Amino acid sequence: MGIGRGRFRKALRAVLLSQHATPNVESLVRQELGWNCVYCGVSGEVERLQLDHLWPEAEGGCVVIGNVVPACPTCNSDRRETPWQHFLRSSERVRNRRDAEQVERQIDTITDYMNRHDQARQPDLHHVLSPEERALLADFDLLLSAISDGALARTGYKKKSSVKFNEPCQMFNELVSVAKSFQKDSS
Ligand SMILES: [Zn+2]
Repeated sequence: MGIGRGRFRKALRAVLLSQHATPNVESLVRQELGWNCVYCGVSGEVERLQLDHLWPEAEGGCVVIGNVVPACPTCNSDRRETPWQHFLRSSERVRNRRDAEQVERQIDTITDYMNRHDQARQPDLHHVLSPEERALLADFDLLLSAISDGALARTGYKKKSSVKFNEPCQMFNELVSVAKSFQKDSS
């Protein structure tokens, strides 16, 4: 994994999944769920909320209505990839702001929301992506292998100490420039 192969793969997957996103998803989510953190309930007027994936991207979850919910940055980062029902029942932050009955009601609300949009079943990444996109992901793995096998060093590319996870397009562009310099170098 020397150069953060997993992170590049994750970035490409995010770019590919973004092709399957619902347009204007945020306003649709606002209409259906309002704009409070679905976990702790903090208002979007108090904190800048984010869209949290119920099914994570790693499991093929897309930015589509029925799979994303408003969440405050604290709940979003605390939850990571914990199943959302489990997070609602176990988070200390949630427990400080909602009683057990409210938590169960919130679970029902989110379950209904997922069901309405046919998102209750775990998505399959290979069903979500088109054959072309799956082929691109496979080619990408080959490229990453070539890079991590040491070819990268010849390009003079220096790894940056921090690549942000939440900017997949930027990472993708970076990878493309590495790929181009690799191509130039070997021709
Ligand atoms: Zn929250």
